Amino acid sequence: MRIVPVPCLADNFAYLLICEETGQAGVVDPAEAEPVLHCVAQEGVTLSAILNTHHHWDHVGGNKALLARQPKLKVYGHASDRGRIEGQTELLEAGAHFSVGKLAVRALHNPGHTSGAVSYVVQDAVFTGDTMFAAGCGRLLEGTPENMYHSLCKVIGSLPPETRVFFGHEYTEKNLRFAAQVEPDNADVQDKLAAVRALRAQGQFTTPSTLAAEWKTNPFMRTDSKSIQQTVRQSDPGNDLTPIAVLGAIRRMKDQF
Ligand code: ZN
Ligand code: FE
Repeated sequence: MRIVPVPCLADNFAYLLICEETGQAGVVDPAEAEPVLHCVAQEGVTLSAILNTHHHWDHVGGNKALLARQPKLKVYGHASDRGRIEGQTELLEAGAHFSVGKLAVRALHNPGHTSGAVSYVVQDAVFTGDTMFAAGCGRLLEGTPENMYHSLCKVIGSLPPETRVFFGHEYTEKNLRFAAQVEPDNADVQDKLAAVRALRAQGQFTTPSTLAAEWKTNPFMRTDSKSIQQTVRQSDPGNDLTPIAVLGAIRRMKDQF
């Protein structure tokens, strides 16, 4: 397996998921076709599938042009996204399995950002779209804090800590600045912020993260942190500090950040 990030638009990541044994590849979230086709040519692989994490235009924007060139591509997305994903051919339910070349892929259903959000697990990698970012999560456009808590901490969070997390946007630096604000005594956040600033200053990307790093630095996965709970109490004195209420409160704070 080889995974190649393909930067698209201003800050999106598509990813080429390559089965080295067969030379087949799938593309996760082609925001645009051109950079994906360039990468496919550069890697010398055969594109056989599109794996969409959700229906937003900045994740499916390249589907149409890719299908125009290769009408037989399989297009994966959640069953409930039927009619919202251009060219969708495969309707996935939670736990569905399929393969790209000889790579076994498993779909997780992660409602929260959207109702049909999916993450794709392949060996030690997970593609999370706009559900889990490095040090953040997507806005709750079609879901509740409870949905997002479950998706992040229970479903994706059940994967092994060494799992590599390939997320949908380069938001890491801003996310860590927010994390530092809501959890000022978290040294892991400070360390990662310094490392990420250095990477970005060199024009490098921050993908992938790991689940272990997210448990240490992602405020939406740290709702039991006393420091985060204190921050929440200051802005929302009536908050009952359950994990779901804390996630909801910091998500509202992040919407204004
Ligand atoms: Zn989105
Ligand atoms: Fe997005």
